[in-house]
Amino acid sequence: MSGTLGIVHVFPTLMGTYGDGGNVTVLQDRARRRGIEVDAVTVGPDEAIPALGDLYIVGGGEDHGQIAAARRIRAQGSLAQAADAGATVFAVCAGLQVIGVDFEVEGGAIEPGAGIVDLITRRREPRAVGEVLADPMPRLGLPRLSGYENHGGGTRLGPGTEPLARVVAGIGNGSGGERGDGTEGAIAGHILGTYLHGPVLARNPALADLLLSWAIGRELAPLDAPYVAELRAEREAYVASGKLSASAADPR
Ligand code: GLN
Repeated sequence: MSGTLGIVHVFPTLMGTYGDGGNVTVLQDRARRRGIEVDAVTVGPDEAIPALGDLYIVGGGEDHGQIAAARRIRAQGSLAQAADAGATVFAVCAGLQVIGVDFEVEGGAIEPGAGIVDLITRRREPRAVGEVLADPMPRLGLPRLSGYENHGGGTRLGPGTEPLARVVAGIGNGSGGERGDGTEGAIAGHILGTYLHGPVLARNPALADLLLSWAIGRELAPLDAPYVAELRAEREAYVASGKLSASAADPR
């Protein structure tokens, strides 16, 4: 990073379900409150993704939107180039699927992904829908993750990729059977993907700070947000109440 943090929001009009756009707001806000100057760019579907960003955000989406996004990301090559050069990439749900090797969409077609991270996605049954709690890999030093999932794809991580977290409630990556294999999300270098919406960074500010610290290349001083603790406790109590087990509901 050269003084100003360059945030690139990739194709939010094609991919940006369940409040994922809020992740960019959270990143900008938490950077600025630390005195870091931010230059945030939103890339439209017919625009070029700049190659020189520090932090790229790819949100969730429906199958048709993510197919269009995957084709553009592959054809342009700049996101892969930026990731190779060490930029931080944060991808949610369809975003996670799209930056992988390939993904299956409704109807059975397999679409090539951007090939930025070693994972593949195939359809799963039943659709994974509901609240998720997951404990991050200990080396990350993050508290429990809280979010919401809604996906028909199940993702299997390749050897070059490690899970972001272990599922406590919900499905997460969801490959290998109805309940999934217990993993949630993916990490490879400074590329981080998750199935959690919410928007996930509003619910999990420590995850936002991890991404920011990767992008700026140093640790960040803590930041107070008392209402976040309240929100997290409320969501955790909701899951514990058993009112909604993941995949109990299918809104389609
Ligand atoms: N379309 C993808 C799926 O159903 C991703 C959904 C999402 O991003 N919420 O698996």
